[in-house]
Amino acid sequence: MTVRVRIAPSPTGKLHIGTARTAVFNWLYARHQDGTFIIRIEDTDTERSRDEYTQNILDGLQWLGLNWDESPYFQSQRIDLYRQAVQTLLDKGLAYRCYCTSEELEQMREAQKAKNQAPRYDNRHRNLTPEQEQEFINQGRKPVIRFKIDDNCDIVWDDKIRGPLTWKGRDLGGDMVIARTPQGDEPFGQPLYNLAVVVDDMDMNITHVIRGEDHIANTGKQILLYEALGGTVPVFAHTPLILNPEGRKLSKRDNVTSVDDFCNMGFVAEAIANYMSLLGWTPPDSTQEIFTLQEAAKQFTLDRVNKAGAKFDWDKLDWINSQYIHNKPPEELVDQLIPYWKDAGYPVDGEKDRPWLVQVTELITPNLTRLADAPKETRLLFGDSITFDEKGQKQIQQEGVADIYKAILAALQDYPDLSLDDAKAIVKQVTKDQGVKKGFVMKSLRAGLTGELQGPDLMTSWILLHQRGWDKPRLQQAMEATG
Ligand code: GLU
Repeated sequence: MTVRVRIAPSPTGKLHIGTARTAVFNWLYARHQDGTFIIRIEDTDTERSRDEYTQNILDGLQWLGLNWDESPYFQSQRIDLYRQAVQTLLDKGLAYRCYCTSEELEQMREAQKAKNQAPRYDNRHRNLTPEQEQEFINQGRKPVIRFKIDDNCDIVWDDKIRGPLTWKGRDLGGDMVIARTPQGDEPFGQPLYNLAVVVDDMDMNITHVIRGEDHIANTGKQILLYEALGGTVPVFAHTPLILNPEGRKLSKRDNVTSVDDFCNMGFVAEAIANYMSLLGWTPPDSTQEIFTLQEAAKQFTLDRVNKAGAKFDWDKLDWINSQYIHNKPPEELVDQLIPYWKDAGYPVDGEKDRPWLVQVTELITPNLTRLADAPKETRLLFGDSITFDEKGQKQIQQEGVADIYKAILAALQDYPDLSLDDAKAIVKQVTKDQGVKKGFVMKSLRAGLTGELQGPDLMTSWILLHQRGWDKPRLQQAMEATG
C-alpha cells in the first residue's frame, strides 16, 4: 500500500502557522514512507475564500520546502462529486430532507438549554410521511439534507497520535446537515464540509489523515460518512495544538499567525521548517535539534508525536535560526539581507555594491540571530559621516587624538587600496610616531571611524569603509570635532 497523505487548507487567510506545521508533519510522513503528499485547497466557502490566499498558501509551502507530488486539487472544481455523494446517501435512505425553519431550530435549542441539555438537532424530520413533506413544500419551505446518525452507535478509531478514541453517536449533535437549502430548483443546495472531505479523501485514496486535534469532533462524523459511502476509513492522527509560551492556543494576540509573519521577522525558511518539525515531534535522539526536512523525514514516525500541546519557544526558534544563518555562505546570505538594508533606507545598490555587501555580510554574520538584525548590526558601516555617542565623544576629547587622526589621514595617502596588512602597518607606525599606547590609537580610530567605541571588528570595518571612500571624511569630521 502506498501511503497517501494530504494537507487541506481553506484559503480564507494567509498560510497559518498551524496549517504549516500540519503540512510539515504530513510531508515528513509521506517522505519517510516513500508516499505521496497532496495539497487540496478547500475553497467551497466562496464568501471567505480568496485567490490571493490560495497563492499565499502555495507560495508559503513551497518556501518551506514542502514540495507536493500531484497538482493541487481545488474543491470548488469538484462540487459535482459531492452532489453525487449526497444523492447516493438519499437514495440509500441514509439521508433525508429536513424542513425545519431557523426559528424552529432556535426554539429547539432554547428548550434544551432550559433543561440544561446540550444543544442538538432532535431528528424530528427523520421519518416524515410523504404527506407531511408535501405540506412543508406547499408552505414554501426549503430543505437541508441531513445524514442520519445513530444515537446508540460507538465510533472507535485507533488514533496514531492519541491512541484509541471512542466517540458516542449521541454526542455528535443529532443528524447532521450535509447539504444546504437549494437556491433555485436544484434538488438540494451546496454540499458541506464534512461530506466534501470524506468524498475527496476517498476519491484521492488518502490512507492517513494527519491534521490538527481541533478536527477530532469531525472525525467521528466523517467515519460514519465513510461507512455510509462504502469507503475505507483511513488512519487518523491528530496533531497537538501549538500553544503560546503562556500555554494558551497560539492566536492573533501573539502577533504571529501566518508563515509570512515569521518570514518578515527575519526567520529563514530552513529554520522555520526545522523548528516546526520539532513542534510536537521528538526525534529518536531527543538532543538533536538541527536537521533539514530531508534528515527529519528519515526519522519521522507518528508514534513520536506528542499528545500534549506544543509550546512555542521563541528562544529555541531564534537559536535554530541563528545556526542556519551562521552556516550560510555570505554569497547566498547577502541576497537575503539586501531587502532589509533597503527597507531600513540604507544606501544600497544591490548589484553595484554586491561584492562590498558580501564582505559586510561575512563580517556581521556571527552577530545575526534574524535576518532583520542586519541593519542594526551594520548601522556604523554606512555613509560618509558619523554621529558620536557619549563614549565616542569622550574619546575624541582626549589629548593627542587630533594628532592621531592627522597622522592616519596622512598615512592613508600612501595606501589607496588599503589592505588588512596596510591598516595594521598604519596603526603600528602611528603608535610609534605619536609615542602612545596601541590601545589608545585603536580606541581613537574606532571613535573616529564609527563615532562609538563598540562595533564589528575594527580593522575589517575600516577596510570596508575605505572601499566606499567613507573612512577619510569620517576621520576628517572626527578630527574637526576633537577638543
Ligand atoms: N480545511 C480544513 C482546515 O483548514 C482541514 C480539513 C482536514 O484536514 O480534514 O482546517
